[in-house]
Amino acid sequence: MSNLKIPILDLSAEIEAHWDELMEAYQGVLRSGAFVMGPNVMAFEQEAAEYLGVKHAIGVNSGTDALIIGLRAAGIQPGDEVITTPFTFFATAEAISMVGATPVFVDIDERTFNIDTNLIEPAITERTKAILPVHLYGQAVDMDPIMALAKEYNLKVIEDTAQAFGGEYRGQKLGAIGDVGCFSFYPSKNLGAFGDGGLITTNDDEIAETAEMLRNHGSKKTYYNEVLGYNSRLDEIQAAILRVRLPHIDQANAGRRQAAHRYNELLKGVPNIITPYEDPNAKHVYHQYTIRVQNGRRDEVNNSLAEKGIGARIYYPVPVHQLPVYKDSAPTLPVAEQLAGEVLSLPIWPGIDEKVLEQVCDALKLA
Ligand SMILES: *Cc1c(COP(=O)(O)O)cnc(C)c1O
Repeated sequence: MSNLKIPILDLSAEIEAHWDELMEAYQGVLRSGAFVMGPNVMAFEQEAAEYLGVKHAIGVNSGTDALIIGLRAAGIQPGDEVITTPFTFFATAEAISMVGATPVFVDIDERTFNIDTNLIEPAITERTKAILPVHLYGQAVDMDPIMALAKEYNLKVIEDTAQAFGGEYRGQKLGAIGDVGCFSFYPSKNLGAFGDGGLITTNDDEIAETAEMLRNHGSKKTYYNEVLGYNSRLDEIQAAILRVRLPHIDQANAGRRQAAHRYNELLKGVPNIITPYEDPNAKHVYHQYTIRVQNGRRDEVNNSLAEKGIGARIYYPVPVHQLPVYKDSAPTLPVAEQLAGEVLSLPIWPGIDEKVLEQVCDALKLA
């Protein structure tokens, strides 16, 4: 991978641009001697809550833990059903299963790659307790119909916002619309730390209080543990790094959007390629720029790019319902299954050079 001429993601320029600030933040933590749940975590939680427009933001160890703790804090229990998308990273469904609930997969919308909101109501049963939409690739799920169903059937909505920090839907930040938002700061995400990290957001005081307990071994007061929880705290170094990067997230996302729009222009009319749809009611933050390559040519095209040193990637080659853990009980979901054979994510990052975009598109045209 390291000798690729064009990687899928290159953060070096962004890190270089903020080098001094990052170093200062890092060294400040070393000098302070406070490494877990210190002043940077508290400050980051406040700054993130303000940015996202939510009452509470709770730092945790990863996006996966944000989902597990978020689900439990929202009251999801063993035996419950949670409706979700099969077209996501495994962690989404894994978290549902890890709290003892059952993920119920419904098919996706071929334009957005996100859950098809028309298919949710028929999947609701007496055991359904929540809907877990994923804003895949940074593209907002159509939240209005989901919130309407949640109200009608008394369901919780947990947003998997791991790929969409800073994205918006009808003027609201993603992760601030449902009952709980779950973010990941894995280094490759739009807002990335230099290690693992995650965040839970909510406007509900009770959910926030439970999430705070669960991340710290089920205790409000040290050594007076009340329920079974986790060791899932955000550490000071990651919080300090995130505090440096948060003020630049809008600019970074704007850079991704600009690159995506340039790709759209360069790829217009190229046979077998469908460029990503952009919902006019939302702000797509292009965690990935993902095209569809039709007529069975995806793998061929991907291989041809690889030969030229271009690091395109397939997110994800197998939809979650067809992975070993779920495949025996899974329904057939034709759109997700078809798109898993068509999607191809191209190199994108904030500030990606115009020449790189042209090089990728030239290679695609010849593939
Ligand atoms: C990255 C990701 C997660 C998991 O986040 P981690 O921080 O890696 O645990 C969950 N859901 C989606 C959609 C993701 O992309």
